[in-house]
Amino acid sequence: MPSTSLPGVAVVGGGPAGLMAAETLRAAGCEVDLFEAKGSVGRKFLIAGKGGLNLTHSDPFERFCDRYGARRDAVAGWLRGFDAQALRDWAAGLGVGTFVGSSGRVFPDDMKAAPLLRGWVRRLREAGVRFHVHHRWTGWDAGGALCFATPAGAQRVEAAATVLALGGASWPQLGSDGAWVPWLREAGAEVAPLQPANCGFDVGWSAHFAGRHAGAPLKPVVLHWRDRGGRARSLQGECVLTATGIEGSAVYAIAADLREAIARDGEATLVLDLAPGRDEARLAGELARPRGKRSLGEHLRRSAGIAGARAGLLHELCPPDTWQAPARLAAAAKALPLRLLSPRPVAEAISTAGGVTLEALTPDLMLRARPGCFAAGEMLDWEAPTGGYLLTACFASGRLAAQGALAFLHRLRTADARA
Ligand SMILES: Cc1cc2nc3c(=O)[nH]c(=O)nc-3n(C[C@H](O)[C@H](O)[C@H](O)COP(=O)(O)OP(=O)(O)OC[C@H]3O[C@@H](n4cnc5c(N)ncnc54)[C@H](O)[C@@H]3O)c2cc1C
Repeated sequence: MPSTSLPGVAVVGGGPAGLMAAETLRAAGCEVDLFEAKGSVGRKFLIAGKGGLNLTHSDPFERFCDRYGARRDAVAGWLRGFDAQALRDWAAGLGVGTFVGSSGRVFPDDMKAAPLLRGWVRRLREAGVRFHVHHRWTGWDAGGALCFATPAGAQRVEAAATVLALGGASWPQLGSDGAWVPWLREAGAEVAPLQPANCGFDVGWSAHFAGRHAGAPLKPVVLHWRDRGGRARSLQGECVLTATGIEGSAVYAIAADLREAIARDGEATLVLDLAPGRDEARLAGELARPRGKRSLGEHLRRSAGIAGARAGLLHELCPPDTWQAPARLAAAAKALPLRLLSPRPVAEAISTAGGVTLEALTPDLMLRARPGCFAAGEMLDWEAPTGGYLLTACFASGRLAAQGALAFLHRLRTADARA
């Protein structure tokens, strides 16, 4: 098998975390070889830019850090080295201005990922980062060398230090398929099972309901649920009914709580307020008015503004006699319980929870079980809602892992000089 000994650091994975690691290493004068399984880098980053690239968020620092839930303190440490403003400044350095949208989310001026990625890769090439696409890492050999499957056959690569930035397991067609999990476990690193985050959920609609309402938005709707601590929570936002259940930004925002409730109890209950802003007693009064020749559906639409998919949900989920009892119908419209049976598969999710546990890493993201090997990005065990928090933590951890690799190389050199 052809074997190469690198003069510097191998970065494996060309997403935002790997590219940021490569940039940081190269800026410090290190030789950098970046290996990517696909024929080009940053494919998920490009897809993230399709509906408008949400690069980061304008939340104040402490609130920003709260978005990382149980991993708040660790991620806060990463962000202290590279926060939302640093990310915006970095984009500006590539000629891409950013703006704060009405929701507080931060986007490039043109909303796109492609110009940013193009400019970034060009700058990295000009700086001397060597790109090796179509190089799929397949683990380590017995001697500790990195093994790659390439169009020219298997190759071994020895590097003084490595940064792994292999992503999670969502949208595997873009390159991140989670195949690395067993290899890292065999190497002695603890890896929490990869799970869907920012995902939809299955409800199991009747064929009639799915046929009529799949794809219909619920906008606005208020969601009520219990968080991991058992506290009652609510959120107003937007959802979309799917052929099997429900998805959309409001569902993604609370997906971690719902996923954990399903893992714990076998199901989760999401309570929908289909008539936000309307008072239940008044609604019951309006529904109780004589409807004359109007159909029930028309009566509901005129008295409560509930029609289409919302009315369909009441039909789907309420016993038929609810429709004859205005008070019960109003109560159902204000608090309709939806049983969620399972999260959608991780391959469909926006992002991945689970991954290399932070306990398996030093504070500068080196695998304790494999000195000289660092890891960054979505392959680490943290999660966050959408809103730019995902990319920001990927960039910040890529940078931190690279700084860790530089410090490791420095320690090696110092030890060599002493010997
Ligand atoms: C539809 C969609 C929209 C999104 N929108 C946003 C958004 O607006 N804002 C936001 O913050 N986040 C968004 N995200 C999430 C964000 O894109 C990811 O969190 C981020 O790309 C993860 O970066 P990463 O570098 O860790 O991994 P990735 O971007 O997944 O990159 C990992 C790279 O490693 C390569 N790789 C994997 N295995 C191997 C191997 N064995 N050998 C060699 N190379 C390998 C992959 O091909 C890939 O190029 C979105 C995600 C999706 C799917």
